[in-house]
Amino acid sequence: MDRDYPLDRVRNIGIIAHIDAGKTTVSERILYYTGVSHKIGEVHEGEATMDWMEQERERGITITAAATTAFWVPTYAHADKDSPLNSDSQGESLGSGVRINIIDTPGHVDFTVEVERSLKVLDGGVVVFDGVAGVEPQSETVWRQADKYQVPRICFVNKMDRLGASFEFCYKTILERLTKKAVRLQIPMGEESAHVGVIDLLTMTGYHFEGELGKEVKLVPIPEEFKVVAEKYHHELVEKIVGEDDAAMNEYLEGKIVSVAQLKAILRRATISGSIIPVFCGSALRNKGVQLVLDGVVDYLPSPLDIPPVAGIDPTTGETITRPPSDEASFAALAFKLQTDPYVGQLTYFRVYSGTLEAGSYVYNATKNERERVGRILRMHANQREEVKKVYAGEIAALVGLKNTTTSDTLCDEKQPIILERIHFPEPVVSLRIEPKTKADQEKMGLALKKLSDEDPTFRIKSDPETAETIISGMGELHLEIIVDRMKREFGVGANVGQPQVAYRETITKEAEAEHKYIKQSGGKGQYGHVKLRVKPLEPLAEGADKKKLPKNVTREADFEFINSIKGGVIPQEYIPAVEKGVREGLDRGILAGYQVVNVSCELVHGSYHEVDSSELAFKLAGSMALQDAAKHAGPVILEPVMKVEVVVPEKWMGDITGNLSGRRGQIENMEDRGHLKVVRAKVPLAEMFGYVTQLRSMTEGRGTFTMEFDSYLAVPQTVAQKIIEARQ
Ligand code: GDP
Repeated sequence: MDRDYPLDRVRNIGIIAHIDAGKTTVSERILYYTGVSHKIGEVHEGEATMDWMEQERERGITITAAATTAFWVPTYAHADKDSPLNSDSQGESLGSGVRINIIDTPGHVDFTVEVERSLKVLDGGVVVFDGVAGVEPQSETVWRQADKYQVPRICFVNKMDRLGASFEFCYKTILERLTKKAVRLQIPMGEESAHVGVIDLLTMTGYHFEGELGKEVKLVPIPEEFKVVAEKYHHELVEKIVGEDDAAMNEYLEGKIVSVAQLKAILRRATISGSIIPVFCGSALRNKGVQLVLDGVVDYLPSPLDIPPVAGIDPTTGETITRPPSDEASFAALAFKLQTDPYVGQLTYFRVYSGTLEAGSYVYNATKNERERVGRILRMHANQREEVKKVYAGEIAALVGLKNTTTSDTLCDEKQPIILERIHFPEPVVSLRIEPKTKADQEKMGLALKKLSDEDPTFRIKSDPETAETIISGMGELHLEIIVDRMKREFGVGANVGQPQVAYRETITKEAEAEHKYIKQSGGKGQYGHVKLRVKPLEPLAEGADKKKLPKNVTREADFEFINSIKGGVIPQEYIPAVEKGVREGLDRGILAGYQVVNVSCELVHGSYHEVDSSELAFKLAGSMALQDAAKHAGPVILEPVMKVEVVVPEKWMGDITGNLSGRRGQIENMEDRGHLKVVRAKVPLAEMFGYVTQLRSMTEGRGTFTMEFDSYLAVPQTVAQKIIEARQ
């Protein structure tokens, strides 16, 4: 086999955390210790290596899901032969190191999609907590997302050096708010300014971290003052571990000593299956404990061999099929992220699930039913790129040169096609207007927005036909703010930006007809276009229907259909596309309040033309006006995005929460217990959710948390519609 790292020595992981818990600092230390990054940048100095996009540095939050490759030789592999750490001689076999691919995950709820898409391609996670604050609202959000994708994880309680840090408090919040499966694998050697190291409860050893940025890991005896408590938690840990294995449990009950190697092996299995979640601690900023977290990644998080084979659909039969994580199997990979790189152009990050791919070959995009030429294959390190000839099962790398592949497409072997489960992208629900400052900006803006939307499937662009302004829409206020920021900085576009607004839509509810004659005769050549249109709500396509097999006179898209029923050439064929174009423009312009009209079927039923005066322009205008007229009589309504909202609160605030949600036009769907907390699920219009974070916090003394995601577009009540229409005027 020609792969450089055996598959069991590959880890694909993400550092998962709520903003400010220290994810960037932890990542920086990881890159430093793994030897990739030799010059380390503190976040506050704005030099973070992972956060290479400018405005991320300034905001100090991480947005992109770039993947970085690092190598780690576990600390115990350096231990003496007779050291207690080497009891399992596992160190020897790992002497040449483990490849760790770190997939960057963002911490802000506005970037749910980024979190979800990274969770989909990683095999394990390190969840970072702030040792002062413990579990914070958003820690709970990301924790639940990781639950959804069944990501095995370990916890790292960071910032043990901070004033007010308490490992026990933080550990308690993990048990109470997240999971009873957590168990202390370490305790800090001192807290706040007394934090000098870490005690490992499995091997019962102490650690100090010395030298530049603590890169030298030193074994030290457990200080006297921690002996009793360490002993107590050691037994708790061992009991929890042997509880996962009958044979070990019997040995333990018989009073025999279960070896560290055995305990580690059981803990590894239990962590991967999700029945135990080991908790580490330290301080990334003070260089304490991060190397042991890396050891933990190697010891307890899964390799691609430890996770179930990936499942997908056979595009020819529609059957569910799987692919094993093996180089010999046929190639299957998921493109999970597009990024524009200043040096090489567009990069497509992909995770290989099975088989191999060679540079310079071809690959089949099963989602788009297209072949693509594979240019170069790059492995991205923190501060350099490495060109590789071939990538193997279980790996993550980036492709240069793919033309039509977008996020979430499956790349595979053309002879054995598979479509992997798609990443689910919610609808963009917030929009804002942007206006270029100069003519030159206008051109640059178009290009910049196109590039940004190629990278991000939840970001859309549209132009308002009436004002010629550009409207962009996305997942939330921060999402759009960051896109605008990138447009200004990376692409140097000058623009004025409006206020974020709910992205309303319009539709029709019944059938109607209208006719329009566009005639102009004032000297010279006149204008003549005459059309009669029938509009009705669009029926969904029957299950399994093939769009390509529609009759010739029908064009169909997700939310629009155009039927040409002209007989006997009453309108010549050459003018029909102009009519359709006019109809589309009419829909874009909106009927009631200027929002795009969706889900319309439009039939061109009749019309007439003039030998001399007819033109494409005349038919386009006639089409647009007839459409507007017909739609006005077809029961138009305004649609608003309605969100699925989940609020988690202690029981005593339940009444306040449900009352408040109802006041926001919310429909309570159900309520249930989660530990001693209550979960309320409701559907609430997005327009009513602005400012909810602040209100929830003040209603619940900061204890309530919530998440929301797009559910559906629904018609707004009459009174609300009136207000929206007035606002637009
Ligand atoms: P992120 O938002 O999760 O990426 O968090 P950062 O790594 O940017 O850290 C947020 C803030 O916490 C920064 O000011 C860091 O310097 C600080 N920080 C990170 N780790 C530690 C730590 O171990 N101890 C202390 N005292 N501060 C830390």
